[in-house]
Amino acid sequence: MPDGVPPTLAREADLSGGGAPGAPAIPRAPAIPRASAARLARAEGPIHRIGPNAVTRLAEALAAADPGGGLAARVFAAAGCLDWLVEPPGAMVDERPVARLHAEVHDHMPAPLAEAVLRDAGRRTGAYILAHRIPAPARALLRALPAVLADRMLTAAIARHAWTFAGSGRFATEPTGARARRRVVVLGGNPLALPPEDAAAALPPRPGCVWHAEVFETLYARLVHPAAAARETACAADGAPACRFEITW
Ligand SMILES: [Zn+2]
Repeated sequence: MPDGVPPTLAREADLSGGGAPGAPAIPRAPAIPRASAARLARAEGPIHRIGPNAVTRLAEALAAADPGGGLAARVFAAAGCLDWLVEPPGAMVDERPVARLHAEVHDHMPAPLAEAVLRDAGRRTGAYILAHRIPAPARALLRALPAVLADRMLTAAIARHAWTFAGSGRFATEPTGARARRRVVVLGGNPLALPPEDAAAALPPRPGCVWHAEVFETLYARLVHPAAAARETACAADGAPACRFEITW
């Protein structure tokens, strides 16, 4: 990427806002044994942090999926994070309760609704980053550049700020040709990709890391090419060595 004009991407220092708790509504789906508190605790070792958007935008998406209902409160309570719903975090947070929170989304609703909620949270996160973390001149420059250059520039900026959405995960990109019209990004050790607790159980299909996919799609669609679409082609939660996302346009 050319140096200069580095977008200040996703620094996430002073976020606020979140969903509101409400009254009961959406029926509860049978619990899916996705990840137990014990596995998620992984308490020993250094604390890795992730940006608060993974919490605050999820709260908004849950509230939007169940207006006036108690879905957000149930999910946050199950993850032991109810305080975050009352007082949305404004700084980087421990990634472990965030992983628990995202896992609880799967445990509290049918798979299609869980996917829709996580996608919505990803879109909201992308929109927040666009509005608050990328200066207007950088946005204008990226939109004016040919996609191949905007892609390089945005990807470099994302790599520099990967710690805000990857936590302890390792962000990398795969080489693609200049004419490939695609970008492949890889998240090794994605802390939000938790394998199901009982791998032998017949679990319903899971949507994978749609929160991450939607964040990438929102950014690339707005700044690189309007037709950009992201999908996860391999997921650590399914046993892959890393989560791999393909963004094409
Ligand atoms: Zn994944």
